[in-house]
Amino acid sequence: MQTITQLDPLRSAVAALKADGPVALVPTMGALHEGHLTLVREAAKRAAHVAVSIFVNPRQFGANEDLDKYPRHLAADSALLEAAGVSLLWVPDANVMYPPDFATKVLVDGVSDGLCGAARLGHFEGVATVVCKLFNQIGPELALFGEKDWQQLAVIRRMARDLDLTLPHADAIIGVPIVREADGLALSSRNAFLTPEQRQAAAAIPRAMQTAIAALHAGSAASSALTGLQSELRSAGFSTVDYAELRDAETLRPLTEIGEGPARLLVAARIGTTRLIDNMPL
Ligand code: AMP
Repeated sequence: MQTITQLDPLRSAVAALKADGPVALVPTMGALHEGHLTLVREAAKRAAHVAVSIFVNPRQFGANEDLDKYPRHLAADSALLEAAGVSLLWVPDANVMYPPDFATKVLVDGVSDGLCGAARLGHFEGVATVVCKLFNQIGPELALFGEKDWQQLAVIRRMARDLDLTLPHADAIIGVPIVREADGLALSSRNAFLTPEQRQAAAAIPRAMQTAIAALHAGSAASSALTGLQSELRSAGFSTVDYAELRDAETLRPLTEIGEGPARLLVAARIGTTRLIDNMPL
C-alpha cells in the first residue's frame, strides 16, 4: 500500500494503478471501523485496486461542531487498510485540499435541504465540494459510500449526475448497507465519544425505529409513529431529536404515510455531546 500526501505523486500513483486495472475509491474521515472495512471489501470485489482517502474535511463541520475532537488514528487506520489489501491511501493535509486562495463551493440544491442539511448548515456543501475534488483527483471507475449517511449518498449521486463527473459506469456510486453492533446501533466513529451508559442508551435509536416501522406497516400515520419514536428516544436519555422523518428513499420528499413507493425512516438525535444518525428502509 502506498501512502500519499501530495497531489503530484498521487497523480502518478493513480496512473500506474489504472494501467493495471480499474480503481475503486472509498472516501473516509478515518477512525476506521468495521463499517468502513465493509466498504473496502465491497470495493475490492468490484475493482482491481482500492484507493481509500482519509481526510477530516473541515468544510463539512459547522462552527460549533466536533472538528477538533474528531478521532484521528492514522497509524491504526493504515495498518487496517494495508491488511485489507488496499493499494493506495490518500491522506492530504487541509492546505493541500484547500490552498489559501481556494474559492469554489459545490452546492447541490433540493436533496441537501432539510434533515442533516437543516441541523448542520453548510455541511453538504462541504461534503459535495470535497467529494467532487476526490473524484477529480483520483478519477475512480467507481466509488463506494455507506447507506449510514443516506442523505449524503443522495447528494453525491445527484452531484455526479448533474456535473457529468466522469465515473464510467452509470451506477458508479455504490451504496453499502449499514453495518451495526449486535444491539442494532449503527457503527460510527462518533460512538467512541459515548460513555458506557450513553452507549447502552444509544441502542434505543434502532429499537425505536423498528417500533415506528412496525406501527407504519400496521397503518399508523407518519405523524403519530414519529411522535412515538421521539418520545421513546427522550425517555432513553437523548436530549434532542434533530429530526425523525419519513421520506421518499430517493428524492427525500417528505411522506405522510407509507405506500407511495420506496420509503426511508431517518433519525438524528443527541445524547450528551454526541450526535448520532441512523436510517432504515420500510
Ligand atoms: P466517515 O468516515 O464517517 O465519513 O464515513 C466514511 C464512509 O463510511 C461513508 O460513506 C459512510 O457512510 C460509511 N460508513 C460509516 N459508518 C458506516 C456503517 N456503520 N455502515 C456502513 N457504512 C458506514
